[in-house]
Amino acid sequence: MIHYDYPDARGHFGPYGGSFVSETLTHAIAELRSAYERYRHDPDFQREFRQELVHFVGRPSPIYHAARLSRELGGAQILLKREDLNHTGAHKINNVIGQAMLARRMGKPRIIAETGAGQHGVATATICARYGLTCIVYMGAEDVKRQSPNVYRMQLLGATVVPVHSGSRTLKDALNEALRDWVTNVGNTFYIIGTVAGPHPYPTMVRDFQSVIGEECLQQMPQRLAELGLPGNGAPGLPDAVIACVGGGSNAMGIFYPYIPYEAVRLIGVEAAGAGLDSGHHAASLQRGTPGVLHGNRTYVLQNADGQITETHSVSAGLDYPGVGPEHAWLKDSGRAEYVGVTDDEALAAFHRLCRTEGIIPALESSHAIAYAMKLAPTLRPDQTLLVNLSGRGDKDIGTVADLSGAEFYCRPSCRGQAVKTAHPITPVEGAAA
Ligand SMILES: *Cc1c(COP(=O)(O)O)cnc(C)c1O
Repeated sequence: MIHYDYPDARGHFGPYGGSFVSETLTHAIAELRSAYERYRHDPDFQREFRQELVHFVGRPSPIYHAARLSRELGGAQILLKREDLNHTGAHKINNVIGQAMLARRMGKPRIIAETGAGQHGVATATICARYGLTCIVYMGAEDVKRQSPNVYRMQLLGATVVPVHSGSRTLKDALNEALRDWVTNVGNTFYIIGTVAGPHPYPTMVRDFQSVIGEECLQQMPQRLAELGLPGNGAPGLPDAVIACVGGGSNAMGIFYPYIPYEAVRLIGVEAAGAGLDSGHHAASLQRGTPGVLHGNRTYVLQNADGQITETHSVSAGLDYPGVGPEHAWLKDSGRAEYVGVTDDEALAAFHRLCRTEGIIPALESSHAIAYAMKLAPTLRPDQTLLVNLSGRGDKDIGTVADLSGAEFYCRPSCRGQAVKTAHPITPVEGAAA
């Protein structure tokens, strides 16, 4: 077993992490840090958090054996941790519940968040409705246009969505606006961050809230593998590898963290390689970025020689982020985790393949993890296992997939009942008829 004890008291994961914020926010950050220190080991807080996860989210989520997919690939068994079955359809809800509970205990009735694709905004609006908290979500004006169903979802849940018209009118501009709001309203406002980024203590706090994913896996896997007659990797219940997609890195940290001490288990993070890792159009911060400061912490950042953040690209909006959580930067440098890239095309192929072989429509983000498992499985033996975090469901992505596949898609929000006629139907996937 590896001894792993990160971060240090000031939020450093080796040379990464820390807290780089303006003077006006140092007090708010210190206040959050002491509140989190107080409640993270508080039995009442932990009990309420577990209850919320059971009754509101629907946990524990099952571990599903993708038997047909595994058989077709002819190698290791692929097991899916079903975060797509959570309320609101992804892992993000785990973390927002924890932070909203903290906000209530700190006496902060006003919640702010920023969102790109809208998934974190929807999760935040959901928990604010549940707890009766005021919810303001900042969103780039461009994203508001692109993600109109999520904007309406947030509004249905009672949130105010504020379009941000500055800069490139996307996520990083929304982030600046959220920080500006926090500085102004720091007395009554809690800023809910959606991934393992931001200044200390956010990366640790979000990891801890998401660790329920990996903790459940540690508990569920021995029985699951026994049922399947699989030996486990060295010890009963241990998979050969754990695979998760990495945008900011919260679903990956959530499933990796409890497995870090078990060094026989490979931890594999899958970044969005977009049009290719060397195309200049990707979001692979760990593989093509360099250390720098972004969003209040030191980490790998996609930046040019002058330190300007460069444009990122991924078919999947949730992975389209120029930074990554500082703990991943450390896991990469220390060699405990490996990071690989999957292109848009590979992710799309995996999306279709999982739909057709298992009856599960995965999020495009999660499809990156599936795609890598599909590459790795045939290189391994059938008694080996890959545990893949299926971070979310793909209902939100069907419009994007239809556009990219040139498919006929009825009831697109903007088409008002008219069918969109297209040139090519979806290409059947290999093995779909088996
Ligand atoms: C937001 C999102 C991601 C990316 O965020 P991480 O912090 O890297 O987990 C991945 N999958 C789904 C389904 C998402 O909604």
